Amino acid sequence: MLRLRFFGENKKPKILCLGAHADDTEIGCGGTILRLIEETPEAQFYWVIFSGDEKRGKEAYQSASVFLNEAELKVIDVQHFRESYFPFVGAKIKDYFEKLKKQFSPDIIFTHYKYDAHQDHRLISNLTWNTFRDHFILEYEVLKYDGDLGTPNLYVHLNESHVRRKIDSILKIFETQKENQWFTEETFRSILRIRGVESNSPSKYAEAFYCRKIVF
Ligand SMILES: [Zn+2]
Repeated sequence: MLRLRFFGENKKPKILCLGAHADDTEIGCGGTILRLIEETPEAQFYWVIFSGDEKRGKEAYQSASVFLNEAELKVIDVQHFRESYFPFVGAKIKDYFEKLKKQFSPDIIFTHYKYDAHQDHRLISNLTWNTFRDHFILEYEVLKYDGDLGTPNLYVHLNESHVRRKIDSILKIFETQKENQWFTEETFRSILRIRGVESNSPSKYAEAFYCRKIVF
């Protein structure tokens, strides 16, 4: 099987992480981010969270700082667009994307899945593709009530340490989510285990993505 390296000879890859809500990015691709930093500590990160009231905004910032702790260069930007109303404030979010494009030219982008059932997630996914035309974009998945999981086509194997760090950090930092029945170790580990089975991961765990276009 051909195993792809994310960046080849690129020693300072630029990575853009986009999440509609405070914990989306960590849930969707937190383990992959930890693995990327371990393998490429010189990577430069631009991490955007598009919504968050005072409490959620603080959690988002704190969590991004923990996940990016060992990255040498990082920008964390917590925006405050109105949660659940993204399609109705889409023009302002589009303006933000236009500015972002001028500030940061990413080698890889992590964003939401095109067919995600949450309207905020979908808008961020659509604007990502609308803004970045020939970039390497990976769409992550977020388990939810709507039952919108699909069949991803790109897998990143994670070892037990990545899994442990990802889940422990999410459970510790996002206190505002503790009352939700889905906010448990079991939930987060089970999706990683399923994707691990699908990709025959030696460590049993993987995160999975949708890759719609690759440009060489
Ligand atoms: Zn979300």
